[in-house]
Amino acid sequence: MTKRVVLIGHPVAHSLSGAMQQAAFDTLGIDARYELWDRPPIELSDAIGELRSGDDFLGANVTIPHKERVVPLVDRQTEEAHVTGAVNTLTREGHKLVGHNTDVPGFKTALDQLVGRQKMPRAAVVLGAGGGARAVVYGLIREGFQRVVVFNRHLHRAEGLVKHFGRSAAHMELRAMPWHESIIEAELAKTKVLVNATSIGLVADDSPLPAEIIPADLLVLDLIYARTRLLRDAAAAGCTIADGETMLLHQGAASFTLWTGQPAPLEAMAAALADARDHGVRSAEGEPAGDDAQAAADVSGSAGSTGSTPGPTPG
Ligand code: NDP
Repeated sequence: MTKRVVLIGHPVAHSLSGAMQQAAFDTLGIDARYELWDRPPIELSDAIGELRSGDDFLGANVTIPHKERVVPLVDRQTEEAHVTGAVNTLTREGHKLVGHNTDVPGFKTALDQLVGRQKMPRAAVVLGAGGGARAVVYGLIREGFQRVVVFNRHLHRAEGLVKHFGRSAAHMELRAMPWHESIIEAELAKTKVLVNATSIGLVADDSPLPAEIIPADLLVLDLIYARTRLLRDAAAAGCTIADGETMLLHQGAASFTLWTGQPAPLEAMAAALADARDHGVRSAEGEPAGDDAQAAADVSGSAGSTGSTPGPTPG
């Protein structure tokens, strides 16, 4: 029987996970198919029910906008899912579903690569407070960061994130601050790591920050899978930069291992990602596509961004 793994999101049409995971199954000769399920929030519970009862399912990925909504629908959560309050991977134990968060190990690999042989820094600025930012903040807490400042367009969401991590961050300073350029500039002057976990730059060539407030010696990670305007500006300022490829690849590899019990064929997955990138896809998974992409571009052109020219060439 051909096994099935599904990506549940809305929309999912332009997901990179499909190409990456199918390449992994095919490379290892596993008879499995990765399917994209576009399910609006109202259909999430039915989708989870179908997954729970179908013996041909190995599991699922969960993406925008369901990563937080799916939490109460699972039977058990791993520590990473529980602490972040977000689930991006489901596995089955009989007819029970387990929620995992593989964005956390994906971010750790990306951070380790970015820092390289330097000493792990202790201060970071995070832009964004969505599902991706939760994995980032948890990763920074676990890595031993002593000061993490979260900026978000809607301050209440950043405050909610900080409150959520209250206990795990009790030993360090985790703060939410309002999105004002002068405040961000002051914080950047005190930090070593900058992570963009907003979707600004995903569908248009916008940056969350004006180039002139980026200091020269930052380590800058953009979760978006492309050389975004932020990364180009940061590189021009003299920063060390990385895009979301490593995180995407390693969260996918961790999910693959959870479903199959086998080490993921990283090279084949990376090649499939590169191929998708060559064909112009640069979203992580389930990101705005079609009309939604235009809507998102319209929004990002009107709030918190610094440019409005067409999106960067992927790669
Ligand atoms: P969410 O929808 O949960 O969060 C989106 C975030 O972007 C929010 O903080 C939101 O702010 C902010 N934002 C969106 N538009 C604007 C705007 N115009 N101005 C200011 N802020 C804005 O998405 P995720 O957290 O899941 O994903 C965020 C990004 O991270 C995406 O680009 C995604 O591709 C990437 N990602 C990459 C991964 C990888 O493996 N490389 C893994 C996970 C995410 P507000 O709350 O105010 O709306």
